[in-house]
Amino acid sequence: MQVAVIGGGVVGVTTAFFLARAGHEVVVIERQSNVAESASFGSAGVMAPVHALPWSAPGMPKKLLPMLLKAESPVWIAPRPNVRLWRWARRWIAECDITRYRINRERSYRLAAYSQDVMQALRHEYPFEYERTEGYLQLYRTPHEREFARELQDFLTEHEVAHRVLEPDDAYLVEPALSRTAPLAGALYLPQDASGNCPLFCKQLRSAAQAIGVSFVFSREVDAIEHAQSSGLTVRLGESRSPVDAVVVAAGEGSEALLSPLGIRLPFFPVRTYTATATIRNFDDAPLAALADSTYQVALTRMGTRMRLAGTAELGNRSPEMRKSAIRTLLKVGQDWFPDAANYNAATFWSGDMPTLPDGPPILGATPVRNLYLNIGHASNSWATAAGAARVLADMISGHAPEIDIDGLTMSRFG
Ligand SMILES: Cc1cc2nc3c(=O)[nH]c(=O)nc-3n(C[C@H](O)[C@H](O)[C@H](O)COP(=O)(O)OP(=O)(O)OC[C@H]3O[C@@H](n4cnc5c(N)ncnc54)[C@H](O)[C@@H]3O)c2cc1C
Repeated sequence: MQVAVIGGGVVGVTTAFFLARAGHEVVVIERQSNVAESASFGSAGVMAPVHALPWSAPGMPKKLLPMLLKAESPVWIAPRPNVRLWRWARRWIAECDITRYRINRERSYRLAAYSQDVMQALRHEYPFEYERTEGYLQLYRTPHEREFARELQDFLTEHEVAHRVLEPDDAYLVEPALSRTAPLAGALYLPQDASGNCPLFCKQLRSAAQAIGVSFVFSREVDAIEHAQSSGLTVRLGESRSPVDAVVVAAGEGSEALLSPLGIRLPFFPVRTYTATATIRNFDDAPLAALADSTYQVALTRMGTRMRLAGTAELGNRSPEMRKSAIRTLLKVGQDWFPDAANYNAATFWSGDMPTLPDGPPILGATPVRNLYLNIGHASNSWATAAGAARVLADMISGHAPEIDIDGLTMSRFG
């Protein structure tokens, strides 16, 4: 089958790779000049199934609301009235109910854990070098946060995931450069989780995909997907129309514009996040692997000779300007935990919008439009879920049963 994949982020590239593996003739169409130039570019690089668990969790609205008024906050909401945002927020709050959260968590975890297996198999096959580190440490600043995470620990035990709850002294053994002056009530350590440089991985996977026949069309934007006279679809690029048997939309924040004209409307809202990248100055004072600050919801990762800080969720910001307080939040977290590690003053910043669903898991699979498939809505987790999602989708398109249960991962959950 001839398949066009729209979008060359981590989701599109992995999808193309596994479709070609399954014997399809694949073309990736990407409006930027290379792969991983949009949201995938900013990824903190954490590849941990627990990182992929939904933000819509019990207690989260109560935790975030007082933060809105602080100078350094993990979340910011536009003060202007925005009907679409409030509608989305209402749905998000409904998903924070404990029963809904457990359902969403199981769905997200199922996909992310499978993705970890698929990535491991890929790494055995290809000698990819993408600044990978092993181990993931979640830091709790307060006893309340540590207590709050008990439910997560029970979940990990139930799923037989290797983890250790650490007292501060044990956390300092895992990450010896962690500052002793920042408040630390405890930590959760996941030795089998990892992090890596997402764009670097995408570029190497692009070469692997090209070697098995995938072609890439860069610097061209798909204007529309149209019904063809035959049973297939047509991809419109300016004046030219290319007929294909099937289309996969993996276009991140460009997906909505392609789907709405076809009558496919999904409850997305663009959430903006930020990244700060700083060159390491003192290697003895830098993190060894990936960490997350649970209070500020900021990930800290080591990428070779650089350190990356990523996080903060911004809703309803239409300005292209980077918000100063978001940048302050990232730098505060870096300076709190690893004050002498990097040249924070010379850090470079990036921000991008991620279409985010209120419940958490992405949307994979068929749509009401024949031969049109989706791999979208991974939000802040797609580096952790991309390989598994791509494999599932390639199986679905090829008429094979996916290796995991796809219940709750398709668009049918939105009716
Ligand atoms: C700051 C930040 C930190 C993150 N940290 C992590 C993390 O630690 N762990 C994790 O798992 N995930 C993380 N993520 C999430 C993850 O990196 C992104 O969500 C993910 O990369 C999105 O992948 P994607 O392929 O769906 O989207 P994108 O990378 O945005 O790719 C979509 C592509 O489609 C193209 N496109 C759109 N419309 C069209 C069109 N009409 N025609 C042609 N091309 C089109 C775009 O140019 C774009 O390149 C983070 C994200 C951000 C922003």
